[in-house]
Amino acid sequence: MFAPPVQRLVTELGKLPGIGQRTAQRLAFHILGTDPEDANALAAAIREVKEKIRPCEVCFNLADEARCRICQDERRDPAIICVVEGPGDIVPIERTHEFRGRYHVLGGALSPIDGVDPEDLKVAELYRRVSESHPPVREVVIATNPTTTGEATAHHIAAALHERTPDVAVTRLASGLPVGGDLEYADEVTLGRAFAGRREIA
Ligand code: ZN
Repeated sequence: MFAPPVQRLVTELGKLPGIGQRTAQRLAFHILGTDPEDANALAAAIREVKEKIRPCEVCFNLADEARCRICQDERRDPAIICVVEGPGDIVPIERTHEFRGRYHVLGGALSPIDGVDPEDLKVAELYRRVSESHPPVREVVIATNPTTTGEATAHHIAAALHERTPDVAVTRLASGLPVGGDLEYADEVTLGRAFAGRREIA
């Protein structure tokens, strides 16, 4: 229906999450109608993140240097680590201003049905980090999503930490978060309260 370059753009845009065929076409026509500078800035931004962004060597958050900004920040308490599924989950937690520790990004949640096993996540790196940390880690806050896979991941990690590093408190965000929801979409008041009311899990 379209000239091949237009069709290619529609196809690529249609691969983005939440973008159906119709929206992909609308975005493609929007890009076609913008100034060349704007369209080139978009293309360059995509190329730049793919070239420059890599996982932080400590916490696996997104970084443009060996360590991410949070790991580089001396004011952040290294004795408390908040475990999240993806780098996108750090943003809403930071917005609550409830947390001044460090993070650990797992890279997903355990889901044996989908073939996601502990080896596919950064859990071994978490256990090593917690057991080898100086100063010692005091608390690990598990902030995986309140979904079936997020809960399973939280319990798996809590059990492993209790066994390996029994002196470290393991907490989970308090309820109040929408069940089955995504941390990324939680409002900051709810998420802030969930943080303040976190409790130890067995
Ligand atoms: Zn980091």
